[in-house]
Amino acid sequence: QQPIHVIGGGLAGTEAAWQIARAGWPVILWEMRPTQQTPAHHSEHLAELVCSNSFGAMASDRAAGLLHQELRQLGSVVIAKADQHQVPAGGALAVDRGQFSQDLTATLAEHPLIELRREELPEIPRAGIVVLCTGPLTSPALAADLQRFTGLDYLSFFDAASPIVVGETINREIAFLASRYDKGEAAYLNCPMTQAEYQAFWEALNSAEQAPLKDFDRETAKFFEACLPIEEQARRGMETLTFGPLKPVGLSDPRYPEQPRPYAVAQLRQEDKAGQLWNLVGFQTNLRWGEQQRVFRLIPGLENAEFVRLGVMHRNTFLNAPKLLTATLQFQDQPHWLAAGQLVGTEGYTAAVAGGWLAGANAVRLAQNLEPVTLPETTMSGALIHYISTADVKHFQPMPPNFGIMPPLEKRIRAKQERYGAYRDRALADLGAWYCQLIKDLVPAG
Ligand code: FAD
Repeated sequence: QQPIHVIGGGLAGTEAAWQIARAGWPVILWEMRPTQQTPAHHSEHLAELVCSNSFGAMASDRAAGLLHQELRQLGSVVIAKADQHQVPAGGALAVDRGQFSQDLTATLAEHPLIELRREELPEIPRAGIVVLCTGPLTSPALAADLQRFTGLDYLSFFDAASPIVVGETINREIAFLASRYDKGEAAYLNCPMTQAEYQAFWEALNSAEQAPLKDFDRETAKFFEACLPIEEQARRGMETLTFGPLKPVGLSDPRYPEQPRPYAVAQLRQEDKAGQLWNLVGFQTNLRWGEQQRVFRLIPGLENAEFVRLGVMHRNTFLNAPKLLTATLQFQDQPHWLAAGQLVGTEGYTAAVAGGWLAGANAVRLAQNLEPVTLPETTMSGALIHYISTADVKHFQPMPPNFGIMPPLEKRIRAKQERYGAYRDRALADLGAWYCQLIKDLVPAG
């Protein structure tokens, strides 16, 4: 049995290595800390939580909570340890971060099939099965190797993402579907503003509070002059945005066909095939999350918008997953390489664990000459991995778990909490049936 290599002992790598060993296959887990630190980690432990100690809301009719529940069904070691080291956090699954990662480190180190190597792997091993889980702060040498393999355009080092809004929370009595100068298919939802509305928005944007930048983010940001945060553009003058992301040219408000064009227009581009998610074009921002919701809801049409992702600008190494990966988390051009975690563009701790589970499970299946599997799309974990492997290659940005990426329910349910509950019931039932079948198929008949 040739050991499988898992590179990176963060949230995804820890789960992947455990699932491989649990299935009876040897694994070498490469973790460069403490010999080489990242700019955000502080300890030598596996699965260190770099910032908040929370895995998100616990209720199973919330996106994070549903993902926790799915991972419990799948036997995730990371979520089991999170449950064990939970601290009170008013409805969120928060942990004692020290105990949590120390316990995981000891649990993996004691497993007879897991060899923990404290070394940086500067190149991807060319032979054998490899699971890449090196996260948003992948070491520069390995990132360079990945770039050689994937090509310049398919590995990003900086995440300058605009907020994403749930389509059905956009007020369609105001926002209208059109492309500039009516060119091609009507592709954007346009939120028109009068001069007074624009001025109120500009003033709020100018006085909104920014999130403090980490030193390494400040360093990286210098390389992205072309991608200025929207609040920075606003500070350059009252009209700057109306020549940039809010330019109104080529658009007229269908409510007032006789009037000249609007003073400013915010545009949203469709993010998923089903049109459930819309991205605020050019709204990359460093504003605090609460401030983003307050200010962006001043845009006519977005007054009740629900945000599934808020804007971020930070260092983040991630692959263009829809270009490079399949929904089994294998590389299309190198099927014995798999990847998971922030590196594939899922966002957040729990999402990394979910990807780690699938990549680990599929790495063992490959080793055992079995077909790799995909998770049911109706589950939160499956929907997320399906999303990152099929999203628009040109505009791909990382995505957190959210209900907007799940396939619509057969029956439309208006009330939000009831709808989320129905998503949850469908997801857990489908995952249960899928997992039973997976186990059954592994047991020899008779
Ligand atoms: P990581 O947990 O970062 O694990 C990657 C591991 O790979 C690291 O241990 C690293 O040392 C190791 N490694 C890298 N290169 C090599 C190499 N060449 N050889 C060997 N080992 C290597 N998400 C949240 O949900 N909540 C938050 O509050 C939050 N805050 C964040 C704050 C910062 C500053 C950053 C950068 C990210 C934050 N994130 C947060 C996102 C977070 O990184 C992910 O949710 C999660 O850590 C991703 O898990 P991962 O396994 O993909 O990466």
